[in-house]
Amino acid sequence: PELSFDEYRAIPRHKQHRRALRLAILTREPSNYSTRRLIEAAEARGHTMEVIDTSRCYMNIRAVGGEVHYDGRRLPHYDAVIPRIGASVTSYGTAVVRQFESLGTYCLSGSEGITVSRDKLHAHQVLARHRIGMPTTAFARSPKDSGNVISLVGGAPLVLKLLESTQGKGVVLAETKKAAESVISAFQGLKADFLVQSFVKEAAGEDIRCFVVGGKVVAAMRRRGKPDDFRSNLHQGGTAEPVKITRSERETAIKAARAMKLDVAGVDLLRGEDGPKVLEVNSSPGLEGIEKTSEKDIAGLVIQHIEEKVAPRPPKPRRR
Ligand code: ADP
Repeated sequence: PELSFDEYRAIPRHKQHRRALRLAILTREPSNYSTRRLIEAAEARGHTMEVIDTSRCYMNIRAVGGEVHYDGRRLPHYDAVIPRIGASVTSYGTAVVRQFESLGTYCLSGSEGITVSRDKLHAHQVLARHRIGMPTTAFARSPKDSGNVISLVGGAPLVLKLLESTQGKGVVLAETKKAAESVISAFQGLKADFLVQSFVKEAAGEDIRCFVVGGKVVAAMRRRGKPDDFRSNLHQGGTAEPVKITRSERETAIKAARAMKLDVAGVDLLRGEDGPKVLEVNSSPGLEGIEKTSEKDIAGLVIQHIEEKVAPRPPKPRRR
C-alpha cells in the first residue's frame, strides 16, 4: 500500500521499508570466519540466515515448479542466497545456484559469474574483451607450440599457472627460457592445462586485493609474500596491510567485477609500471583478511547490498 508523505516521514529512517529477509548461505564451511560474520551481520539487521551445505542440496529439474531439497525436505523460498562455493565443488555448486536462479531467487554471486571467474582462461578472455589491464597472457596445448607461447609473452622471465591453481599453489616463476621450457614440458607430461604470463617484476612480490560490493571498492589491502617469494598469497604465509588505491586501480577493480557479472568480488591486481594489471576476480572473497586490515564491517556492507537489491526503499513520496 502506498504511504502518504506524512505517514512515510513518521517511520524512523532506519526502519523505512526494511522488511526482515529470509536469507541462506550456501557453504561447506559453516563455522569459518566469513560464514560466521555474514550470519552475525544478517541477524544484527533483523534478518534470518540459514546455513546450507551446498553438496547436500538435491534438485528436481522441470519446466515449471523446480525445487531445491535438503535432508528430506523442500527448501522454502529465500529472498536471497549467498553462494560461497569452494573450488572443489564449482560444477555441482553452480548447478545448485542456477536452480535458485531459475526459482527467481536473488543470488549474491550468479552462477555465470562463479563459473567464469573460476576458469582462469575464460576469465582472462572476458577481462580482455572489456579492455581491462592484465599481464600479457598466452595459452597453448600442443608441445609443438611451447617456444611460440614463450615468445608471445615476451620471453623469460615468465609466470606459468596451472589452470586449476588456487591459493598460489600452481604458480611458478621461470627465470630463464630453459627453465620455462622444462616446466612446460613437465606440465604437458602431466596433461595439465596451464597459461603463460609475462612476469610483472615491478609488483615486487605484492598484490592489491580490492573488495568490491555493489559497484564500489569498499576496502583494499596490500598483500606481500614471504621474503623471496614472488607470490603474495596469504595462504603461502604472506602478510596484509591497508592500502590507499589510486583512482585507476579503483576503476579497474569495479570494471573487472562488472565484466564478471559479480556484485561482490575480490579483485586481485598488480601495480604494473603502465597501470593496474588484474590477476584474478574472486567470486567468494574471504572476509577475515579484509575486515582485520580495514577494520570495517564488510559483512554488514554485503548484507546491506542484499537489502538494496531485494527490498529497496521505495522512492520518497513527493509532497502533493
Ligand atoms: P592463484 O589463483 O593460485 O592464487 P594467482 O594468479 O593469484 O594464482 O597468483 C598468485 C600470486 O603470484 C599473485 O598473488 C601474485 O603475487 C603472483 N603473481 C601471479 N602472476 C604474476 C605475474 N604475472 N607477475 C608477477 N607476479 C605474479
